[in-house]
Amino acid sequence: MSSELISTAEPIDMNLRRAQTLIDNITHVLQAIKRAAPHRQIRLVAISKLKPASDILALHNSRDITKHDSHFGENYFQELVEKAATLPQDINWHFTGTLQSNKCKALASIPNLWAVESLDTIKKADALEKGRAALRKTNNSVDVLRIFLQVNTSNEESKSGCQPSEVPDIASHIIKSCPSLQFKGLMTIGAIARSKQPDVPNEDFILLRETRDNLTKHLGWEEDQLELSMGMSDDYLPAIEQGATNVRVGTTIFGERPKKQDAKVKEDAAT
Ligand SMILES: *Cc1c(COP(=O)(O)O)cnc(C)c1O
Repeated sequence: MSSELISTAEPIDMNLRRAQTLIDNITHVLQAIKRAAPHRQIRLVAISKLKPASDILALHNSRDITKHDSHFGENYFQELVEKAATLPQDINWHFTGTLQSNKCKALASIPNLWAVESLDTIKKADALEKGRAALRKTNNSVDVLRIFLQVNTSNEESKSGCQPSEVPDIASHIIKSCPSLQFKGLMTIGAIARSKQPDVPNEDFILLRETRDNLTKHLGWEEDQLELSMGMSDDYLPAIEQGATNVRVGTTIFGERPKKQDAKVKEDAAT
């Protein structure tokens, strides 16, 4: 380590304090999840968009303490590319942002990208398939890429995601025609207003679950063969009550995010 980095004690002290805050925050979330569903396996994805790599590293390095198995989610393609290149290769990345067709191939080429949670068209599935197949050809230790189909359960024009009625066709396509992808389940963001009323059963979560149940029937699968990714900082506990298997929590772990200047207004509810 260069002497520059250790010339004053303060920055190190602040780093340690930041790391401890992050560990405390994620520990609280993990405990709340455990209390909400003591007998279920629920995956916590820490949504780290617009947060520094040092935050992610601090949490990744503390997994012996937190027992968190290092799932992190990012919303912006370029930010994910940069973080994935510099951070440890045993991080499991999730892409949760608006997916652009022309970025799919490159996205799927990130070897430790664990899942894409925001797929919404067959065209993008084919592009992800191409990228993952090419990568697996050169490196056969790379996993298939897990896919959550994003469903626009709130039927807001501003939200990404396919319509519930489109789910069977897109899902069947992935299962039949995309051997480098693994169809894992459904994802929703939902209406922001509903996440602010924790006492009212959330219609987005109910609709996502019904859409999953219809799909498993259609496919002849068991319900528990398909996951539900739903619930964020404001509503991950109600989401678990409605059957979530994968929750995506950002602010409660990392604190408020800086405003992203060029973030599209359309995804503001989620970003
Ligand atoms: C930003 C974001 C989250 C995390 O939101 P918080 O309210 O900060 O927990 C979860 N899912 C998606 C898709 C997001 O864009």
